[in-house]
Amino acid sequence: MRSSGPLSFFLLAALAGSAVAHEPVAQDPGVDIDLNTTEKVHGCWEGPNGELEGGVFYLPMDKDARAVIEAVEVANRGVPDNRVDFVIVGDGYTAGEQAQFHTDATAIANNFFRYEPFISYEPYFRITQIEVVSPESGVDNDPNQGVSRNTALDMSYWCGGTERLLCVNVSKAYTAAASAPDIDQVIAIANSSKYGGAGYPSSNLGTAAGQNSAAVEIAIHEMGHSLGDLADEYTYGGPTNYSGNEPSDANVSIYDRDEQTDQQRKWWQWMDASVSGFDGPVSTYEGGNYSASGIYRASNNSMMRSLSRPFNLPSAERLIRQIYLEVDPIDDGTPNGSVLERDAMAWVQPMQPIGHDLSVTWYLNDQIILSAIGQTQLDLSTLTLLDGENTIRVDVVDPTPWVRNETIRSNFMSESRTFTVDVCTPAADLTGDGNVDFFDVSAFLTAFNNQDPTADMDGDGAYTFFDVSSFLVLFSAGGC
Ligand SMILES: [Zn+2]
Repeated sequence: MRSSGPLSFFLLAALAGSAVAHEPVAQDPGVDIDLNTTEKVHGCWEGPNGELEGGVFYLPMDKDARAVIEAVEVANRGVPDNRVDFVIVGDGYTAGEQAQFHTDATAIANNFFRYEPFISYEPYFRITQIEVVSPESGVDNDPNQGVSRNTALDMSYWCGGTERLLCVNVSKAYTAAASAPDIDQVIAIANSSKYGGAGYPSSNLGTAAGQNSAAVEIAIHEMGHSLGDLADEYTYGGPTNYSGNEPSDANVSIYDRDEQTDQQRKWWQWMDASVSGFDGPVSTYEGGNYSASGIYRASNNSMMRSLSRPFNLPSAERLIRQIYLEVDPIDDGTPNGSVLERDAMAWVQPMQPIGHDLSVTWYLNDQIILSAIGQTQLDLSTLTLLDGENTIRVDVVDPTPWVRNETIRSNFMSESRTFTVDVCTPAADLTGDGNVDFFDVSAFLTAFNNQDPTADMDGDGAYTFFDVSSFLVLFSAGGC
């Protein structure tokens, strides 16, 4: 492991930092860390002034974790699924305590969707509770260091020497979660009321204490990290002045509002926005990502800075993008690429957020069908189709104003399906009723006798044997 030196240093720093509030804890060392053996973990908890503190910790990773996660993902691949799947597993719950596990897990599930965008997008989520039986009740180092318990997932407080850092064996958590229909995020809850938690963004996993009153708030904050890849917006735990590169996180930036606006960076489209349900107004507020200066956050306060606050708008936009990485706008409908009969019914079932509908627009040969705007089914028999191949397309788009980056909307929040309809009018169908039959013969003979142009099959202006012959050939052929 090439980074063992810095890693040891930073674990020591974590140990040292745990004793005094607001002292630096393990920080991003800015050097390569081997993420196969080391896990970058967020530990965030409420400090004395109500703001969060803690930071980034580098913990040794159980060696099978990457392989186990990949195996679980491979096993789930191809399973029909169009939801963000949260899987809750419990640790330190004995066989006789599974009812308590469900009580704790249900409390988290029922209260998770209390801030936007989770309130509106709750129907996009599915939460599965998986019973895990531990030999002993409770988890390690609860209530004090040195308490050891034999549990299924090896959850432990005082992880890396930090009291509130509640860690878990990632491979065991994923192995336990594997029986869920699908896994996008794992939440491991400890049978404990002791305050603590941790977020494992690269493993899509978070931990929480099952019976702590702040467990839900911590779980929401951790999902900000692991689902939204969001940075902490508090100012403790790192160098006082941030001097690094622009972080990838959507909610912190080294660029102030003028630079963002001029250069169209990060949340430039959100400057001064203030929307009910979100922390704001949006601007650039100095301090964030564990540093007090040299970096900006998007709102003065927010869920990524304090518990019991909503997310700010740039964070929400990012979360919506991440939700749409797992969920397609069209939940069900006529399969893409279908060849349809001209009297068929095409349909879509869009996803249904709370409070607004996805827009549904139908096109016939690239022309909007005005009468079908917003409709989830289209009766093709009502359309005036061209002879030959017709293309029907339906576009489903989430028009939420909580996304202003139209690239995100077009890349992740839009879905189209295209169908084709072949129309052919048989040349011998002189009556135009769609069938080639005796009535067409009769119509031909009448037209021929009347020297009606309908009977001039070869178009030479005369009514001769050649027209009769042409008609008979077309009649025998039947269709097109
Ligand atoms: Zn955090």
